[in-house]
Amino acid sequence: MTAERLGFRLACPHDKAPLTEDAAGLHCAACGALYPVVAGVPVLIDDTSSVFTVADFARSGGYAGASYGRDADGASGARRLYHRLARWLGDAPSSLHHPDAAEVLAWRAAQGPPPRVLVVGSGGITLGGPGDRVLQTDVAFGPGVHVIADAHDLPFEPAAFDLVIAVAVLEHVVDPERCVAEIHRVLAPGGHVYAVTPFLQPVHMGAHDFTRFTPIGHRRLFRHFDEVAAGVALGMGSVLAFTFGAALLSVSQARAWRLPARFLALLATPLLRRLDGVLRHGADAAGGCWFLGERRGGAPISDRALVASYHTGFRQCPGSLPPRKALNPSPPASPPPAAPEPAASGSTWHA
Ligand SMILES: [Zn+2]
Repeated sequence: MTAERLGFRLACPHDKAPLTEDAAGLHCAACGALYPVVAGVPVLIDDTSSVFTVADFARSGGYAGASYGRDADGASGARRLYHRLARWLGDAPSSLHHPDAAEVLAWRAAQGPPPRVLVVGSGGITLGGPGDRVLQTDVAFGPGVHVIADAHDLPFEPAAFDLVIAVAVLEHVVDPERCVAEIHRVLAPGGHVYAVTPFLQPVHMGAHDFTRFTPIGHRRLFRHFDEVAAGVALGMGSVLAFTFGAALLSVSQARAWRLPARFLALLATPLLRRLDGVLRHGADAAGGCWFLGERRGGAPISDRALVASYHTGFRQCPGSLPPRKALNPSPPASPPPAAPEPAASGSTWHA
């Protein structure tokens, strides 16, 4: 198993007890559960609580309902060409920079020994190089997925990781609070979390799209973490692109309308996304939020402190929540101090 090769110990998702492997799969001595290993990928789903079942993965070799579907594009000819063009247009970069998972990994790696990294909901991406200790999990098989795991019940012992990454994941879980508590549990003291979560975006992935977060709602979700840096992930131009497309599609259900409407919306996307960087003070109507936090050991940040910080923290976003400044510190010789950052940086969450 790749997980073992990377040096990660797997635990029962139900009770976090250690697992033993034999030809049938991975056994939990504590609860008696048997978890299959499908094509080298352990399926560590808690059948008693997850919306997914172990059988979803074992029966047909893969549950595809919540996958991103990019590698499963079975179209051919003109349709395949259209799909590729649509992806290229739809993935047009925002003119508002925010750190991606690779930048955060490099930032964390610069601070000390190679970090143990958990990617929750890795989708089709592969993070890190051969020297990195990155374990990728998802609820769908994919080229980079090492373990099938549900974020509500992570199959790892406490303090097993130094960095957890969850990009475009927390809108797809039934209970984000529980998932973030699990992330907190598997992080070692001094560990970091990096999350990107939508705010104003239409539903995607249907029945597996449960919620959205305002900027302060997102910050509160991580109230057991100190903020290192945070900001807007997609700006108001991206929101315009989303809603323009949704409005066009809502005119008619007829296929003769929806195809050209979808294409027109895609054509407008690169142009509208260029507005993200122009409309720099639109955090209150952003497409999404990103948050980089350090695990707190004691009590969470109080709601009163969070609300007080809103007035200094978000009004100027993203200008006052600099993504690059905080992500390029010189590697500290000792753990960074827990003192509040100056108000000018906008990071007043520690107050
Ligand atoms: Zn168990």
